[in-house]
Amino acid sequence: MQDTFVTVGTFTHETEAYLFRSRLEHEGIECFIADNNITTVHPFLSNAVGGIKVNIRSSDHEKAKVIISEIEEQSNKHQSKKIKVGSTIYNAIEGYCPNCDSEAIYVKNYDLIKLIISVIAAACLLPPPFKKDVICRDCLHKWKKY
Ligand SMILES: [Zn+2]
Repeated sequence: MQDTFVTVGTFTHETEAYLFRSRLEHEGIECFIADNNITTVHPFLSNAVGGIKVNIRSSDHEKAKVIISEIEEQSNKHQSKKIKVGSTIYNAIEGYCPNCDSEAIYVKNYDLIKLIISVIAAACLLPPPFKKDVICRDCLHKWKKY
């Protein structure tokens, strides 16, 4: 059977393409990078040729889809350490939403005054003087906790 090839990723920068290729090759999928030479010589042509392509044998496509979805999931987790609700920034914390059991819960940063009072309280071995505002990304339920 003759192999055909499918493009599983296109990148603007050669480094991204090589990182992606090395991840797939680590999983035993042979990759072929295309259009990297033209974009190395003329980087502004990257968009014109449709970016640097990472191609694989079509027989490896199903396996690659699983790995690619893992890569996307990891990068989504990485990106969601912080979320912005209105003008307020929330940081990811460990725990579960009491409303929907989601693990995607975030705590609001203290403002400066509350932060200073909390630091002083902690230095005096007092319990935290303020409850933190927590929000669930999935159901937007809000609650307070220490
Ligand atoms: Zn929730």
